[in-house]
Amino acid sequence: MTDTSKVIEGRTGPWEMVLGLEIHAQVASKAKLFSGAAVGFGGGPNEQVSLVDAAMPGMLPVINRFCVEQAVRTGLGLKAQINLRSTFDRKNYFYPDLPQGYQISQFKDPVVGEGEVIVEHDDGSTFTVRIERLHLEQDAGKSLHDQDPNATYVDLNRAGTALMEIVSKPDMRSAAEAAAYVKKVRTILVYLGTCDGDMEKGNLRADVNVSVCRPGDYEKFRETGSFSHLGTRCEIKNVNSYRYIQQAIEYEARRQIEILEDGGKIIQETRLFDPNKIETRSMRSKEEAHDYRYFPDPDLLPLILDPAWVKKIQDSLPELPDAKKARLQSQYGLSAYDAGVLITEQARADFFEEAAKGRDAKLTSNWVTNELAARLTAAGQDIGDSPLKPADIAELVTLIEEGVISSKIAKDVFDRMWAGEGGARAIVEKQGLQQVSDTGALEAMIDKLIAANPGQAAAVKDKPQAIGWFVGQLMKETGGKANPGTVNQLLKAKLGIG
Ligand code: ADP
Ligand code: MG
Repeated sequence: MTDTSKVIEGRTGPWEMVLGLEIHAQVASKAKLFSGAAVGFGGGPNEQVSLVDAAMPGMLPVINRFCVEQAVRTGLGLKAQINLRSTFDRKNYFYPDLPQGYQISQFKDPVVGEGEVIVEHDDGSTFTVRIERLHLEQDAGKSLHDQDPNATYVDLNRAGTALMEIVSKPDMRSAAEAAAYVKKVRTILVYLGTCDGDMEKGNLRADVNVSVCRPGDYEKFRETGSFSHLGTRCEIKNVNSYRYIQQAIEYEARRQIEILEDGGKIIQETRLFDPNKIETRSMRSKEEAHDYRYFPDPDLLPLILDPAWVKKIQDSLPELPDAKKARLQSQYGLSAYDAGVLITEQARADFFEEAAKGRDAKLTSNWVTNELAARLTAAGQDIGDSPLKPADIAELVTLIEEGVISSKIAKDVFDRMWAGEGGARAIVEKQGLQQVSDTGALEAMIDKLIAANPGQAAAVKDKPQAIGWFVGQLMKETGGKANPGTVNQLLKAKLGIG
């Protein structure tokens, strides 16, 4: 999937895409950003709404300290600057599900400044995306258009919920890079416990900014910092799956190239992605910041953070994905690729570490990331609810290491374990799946085989690779249980080669 070639061939020559993302992550918190109303699913329509959220006259917002802590924790996890003084502004616009008539956000002085995220390509290589800022803001309510043929209903349960908007610099150069970036940010947030990362519920979603330029222009932008080297961008709103992000980008870049090659101009605008038609559509021409009449919210004092409090949060951070990856590589001798796959979920890395204790780490990692992961995905289960525990995988790996079963037979044993037939050792014993390393029995079979196939045996003398046929026959005869090493050794001796 990694598209290393950034170039898109057009009619008039090559193009490149430039992508910057604004990720909206719902803060994991029991209460809203400025009210004590509960956050989360479960409540019926408008049951999680305080008078503040409904914007009743005279109500005043009170900042939720925990939400600020979560934003700071996230900023630290993104290796970003924490601004000890930040302010809240009103972003004014009308929408039926926004009763205040404005959204409280952070415009000029966000709580978190510049940071960076190291992102893995599919092949395990990495690139860096710079973070511009992270700010706190309120989410809006929801308009429900499908409840009644003639009316739109408004559910304010989400109104006032805390969001973190994480704004990247335009540092992604392909659809795959953009998806990999969102994946990595999601992993970091989930490790930090600052967002549950549930994209299906929309708790993590991205606005994707797309522009195209000619080869060389992006490098000039990076050298000078001047956006004039880049093309005009369009922003695709609220995309909430990796697949949609990639489809939206591919479509949008191609759309822009076609317009430019026809001699047209890109109009900066906000667009919507239609997952059914796999295309983007214009929603509105892009509003400028001044259209929102941003001004400091007079109901809220500037947010002043105590450096000691920030330090305490820093000291309480868990081991983050990059550090875990580096440790898995050095401690277990895993490749960057294997370690990268394991750390995408904390529970997967933990599972691996428990199973690998005192065993072949590479082999254990393969069983966790291949066979087990595939089964769990097919069953729609998380590794946390896996019916097979680390000790089960450990037992299986030990049998392979001891030479009791081959890797091929291990797959069969694994299938039986998954089907609930018991532990690996018990299954091997009950089914008689031990490898046949008993040379006497194997020798007898080989003698019979050679006697019955003198032509083949003679042929091997001129063409040593023809030995494969004999190996195959023996494997068939033993139901795959012959130890391949022993078989090869015996065959070579009996056939007089090697
Ligand atoms: P707005 O609120 O207008 O969307 P932001 O500053 O919040 O503006 O976000 C702008 C986003 O667009 C950032 O992620 C930035 O990296 C990205 N961006 C800016 N210029 C370009 C461009 N020419 N091509 C692609 N992305 C861009
Ligand atoms: Mg924005």
